[in-house]
Amino acid sequence: MEYEIAIVGGGAAGFSAAIYAGRSGAKAVVFDKGMGGGLTMEAPKVENYPGFKSIPGVELMEKMKEHASEYAEMKFGEEVKEIKVKEDGVEVLTSKGKYFVGAVILCTGTEHRKLNVKGEEEFAGRGVSYCATCDGFFFKGRKVAVVGGGNSAIIEAIYLKQIGCDVVVIHRRDELRAEKALENEAKEKGVEFIWNSIVEEIIGKETVEGIKVKNVKNGKRKTIKVDGVFVSIGEEPQNEVAKKAGIKLDENGYIVTDEMGRTNIARIFAAGDVTGGIRQIVTACAQGAKASLAALKVIGKRSPY
Ligand code: NAP
Repeated sequence: MEYEIAIVGGGAAGFSAAIYAGRSGAKAVVFDKGMGGGLTMEAPKVENYPGFKSIPGVELMEKMKEHASEYAEMKFGEEVKEIKVKEDGVEVLTSKGKYFVGAVILCTGTEHRKLNVKGEEEFAGRGVSYCATCDGFFFKGRKVAVVGGGNSAIIEAIYLKQIGCDVVVIHRRDELRAEKALENEAKEKGVEFIWNSIVEEIIGKETVEGIKVKNVKNGKRKTIKVDGVFVSIGEEPQNEVAKKAGIKLDENGYIVTDEMGRTNIARIFAAGDVTGGIRQIVTACAQGAKASLAALKVIGKRSPY
């Protein structure tokens, strides 16, 4: 066996799992279809990861990647397409090859939920974005809408305001899901809010020129001129590999695990955002560590738990 533990997904959970696997003497590999780092890479700043009062998401994940690389081999740009459980191990089929390992830890995270309205796909990359840190700079001095009312949406709105955008948040209810402290900060910084409203269409010619919004309380519609739309309405689990392998998912598509990250299939574990829950970096790290310790047992190594 070239590797004993294969970790699918190089975000906080995956890197943490890699550190625990490697430090326990297991030959571990991390596969990531991109360059690793997960969605935290898009966080303008992280202020609730112990040890770092405030750190850009990119910086935190670079540190984790460097740390994990000490203990596991990193295979970036290699997508895991399928896992097949055999009696004595698991076959991992990737975009580049085939591996036989003792255990797999799925840390595939989540992806951005889409609005599914007219114009969203058409203007993707031409005014429609899912990442303020990545694309915000192009909208400096211009008006943008942020759609959503969760922590991510409000953090993005504050960030966009900070880089000089005129920002309006469109939220479907009359109160935010985001923490009160974030709401207060956004209001203090001059972020505007349009409540009880949904985006029905994104309009423009070459690029975005506006959004058509409907007030869900009184049914009134209006068009708001904006140059950019940042969609921040939550995440969906990346569960394709799990689904194909017959791993049990909950009603929202998140992988069901026990306390130690075990799935319904022996040798397959899961950790981090793909398992749902409160989806914090610190919890993803903890889950990665636990799944790794549980996986060690399966490959016949000692584990402190
Ligand atoms: P979220 O908390 O699930 O919020 C999604 C928001 O989008 C909600 O306000 C929701 O409205 C709205 N929404 C959902 N579908 C919609 C649709 N089709 N049309 C219009 N609006 C829609 O997602 P998130 O903000 O991405 O956060 C994900 C997780 O990461 C959460 O657990 C969050 O706490 C965590 N997170 C934490 C931090 C932090 O701790 N600093 C930072 C970022 C994210 P309703 O409110 O009406 O449902």
